[in-house]
Amino acid sequence: THFGFETVTEAEKRERVAGVFTSVAESYDRMNDLMSFGWHRIWKDHFVASLNPGFSPLTDGPDPRASQHILDIAGGTGDIAFRMLHTAHVVNRNPDVRVTISDINPAMLTVGKQRSAALPASQQAALTFVEANAEDLTKTTPLSPNLSAPNPHPTSAIPSNSVDLYTVAFGIRNFSNIPAALREAHRVLKPGGVFACLEFSKVDKHPLFNTIYKEWSFRAIPLIGQLVAGDRDSYQYLVESIERFPSQEEFRDMIVDAGFVVGGCGYEDLTGGVAAIHKGMKP
Ligand code: SAM
Repeated sequence: THFGFETVTEAEKRERVAGVFTSVAESYDRMNDLMSFGWHRIWKDHFVASLNPGFSPLTDGPDPRASQHILDIAGGTGDIAFRMLHTAHVVNRNPDVRVTISDINPAMLTVGKQRSAALPASQQAALTFVEANAEDLTKTTPLSPNLSAPNPHPTSAIPSNSVDLYTVAFGIRNFSNIPAALREAHRVLKPGGVFACLEFSKVDKHPLFNTIYKEWSFRAIPLIGQLVAGDRDSYQYLVESIERFPSQEEFRDMIVDAGFVVGGCGYEDLTGGVAAIHKGMKP
């Protein structure tokens, strides 16, 4: 079965994406390793190291500028948020960094919350889990305590100009309305705050590698999904969503259109463009 997303409405796409991630939540971490040969870990490590959360040029005495609020959007099962906390608290020895991990899907967040129990208590205390659609961060709720009942928590907004660093890893291609999400990123960031995105991208600068990569994606990944997770359709969707996502240059232009300034070419290719990092600063 193929999802013909070109013909569906935004609401239908949202519902399908919700179905995909609810169905893959339990197998998500294992499948990531299998599908990318473990490369996603290297990309995530590099992404977080390049942002160096909690780093302060002043090393002596307290530095109020070093306190940071990181918003990890589409944070899923926590891979980026946990790395951010480790780099900030352990590598940069800066406990004044907190991370809000936000996702539209409570099943993914619940796996993340369970995984976070293995973190040191100080890191757990610096983490907040919220349910939100990245396209509208004026309506967020704390993670639902019970996935089968309506969320009892009241909604609240992520305030404008309140976030130092906005991260989104392997999430944005699933959004129904990417320009709306970029506008929300711009709204919640402080002036001087950074938008940083890690996402699958285009390999077309390397034609031979591209051919092999496409074969792997379109043939092997749905098959692995079927054999390992018993769910071919969800992984077929993931591959198609990568194919539909804009090129490095097109996506950079969307970030600029949302009001961000970018340095250099605006992106960094990883593994020949299988993934790419885009960054922008809110002026
Ligand atoms: N960032 C994590 C990582 O790198 O492992 C999770 C990535 S996972 C491939 C994509 C996540 O995007 C899913 O958890 C899904 O629920 C979330 N997502 C999809 N559409 C969303 C939306 N409109 N707003 C917020 N999150 C969304």
